[in-house]
Amino acid sequence: MMKVQRKIYRLIAGIMAFLIVIYAGISAEGTAAASESTSNQKRLAIIIDDVGNDMKGTAEILAMPVKLTVAVMPFLPTTKKDAIAAHEKGMDVIVHMPMEPKKGRPEWLGPGAITSNLTDEEVRSRVEKAIDDVPHAIGMNNHMGSKITSDKRIMSIVLDVCKERGLFFVDSRTNFRSVVGELAVSKNMPPVGNDIFLDDQNSKQHIRKQMDLAAQRAIDKDICVVIGHVGHSGMNTSAVIRESVFRLQGQVEFVGIGDLVREVWDWHATPTLPTGNK
Ligand SMILES: [Zn+2]
Repeated sequence: MMKVQRKIYRLIAGIMAFLIVIYAGISAEGTAAASESTSNQKRLAIIIDDVGNDMKGTAEILAMPVKLTVAVMPFLPTTKKDAIAAHEKGMDVIVHMPMEPKKGRPEWLGPGAITSNLTDEEVRSRVEKAIDDVPHAIGMNNHMGSKITSDKRIMSIVLDVCKERGLFFVDSRTNFRSVVGELAVSKNMPPVGNDIFLDDQNSKQHIRKQMDLAAQRAIDKDICVVIGHVGHSGMNTSAVIRESVFRLQGQVEFVGIGDLVREVWDWHATPTLPTGNK
């Protein structure tokens, strides 16, 4: 009996030593990444989804006194106007690509959406057209898409087109089975994803709580990526972001997602001109 116990203790000690070695390796890597960055500030990237349809909160978001990332849906009435306005204010612009969800009404998807019944060629063509439609886009993220982001065939094409055009892809992480992160790594693209949804409940109290969580995560882990929305929650979201700018001043730096992608993941692609304009 004693012998068996001793064997078990030795096994546990072995596993502990192994884990300590792995942990030390990860910490060393983390330190290296942090020291490479040009800033030792704690950085928070706020992405605002669903821009491009003149929805509630759009003007307030575009007037924010800090750098945000505006995710603009293609082919909508204010797509071009909002993308240009955001770019002129020094904000980052990304394409908010509509993608089929597991649940939800098709009419919420918007025009030019990626659905699971499309051929490879159709997926490629829709992604290219969407990029062409959003001026100044340096990246892309998904609108809805809980079904598509777990589809390897489709996401592989989406990422290929993004890479060809010099765009990164931000996984909104609407599905925990998403294949985007592993695909991005395999294609030498930055595996950047959303950490926290700001306005999954539409109340100032909840959004404030999520902002505090985000700031704390940025302080603990050096960076944090969050997603908020215009539309239904737009007025509350923009109001809380505005007050947070002052509340969190000195604790976190508000940066564009492009700044993180360049400085943390060392991604330096240059977005290319629209298809057919190369
Ligand atoms: Zn969306």
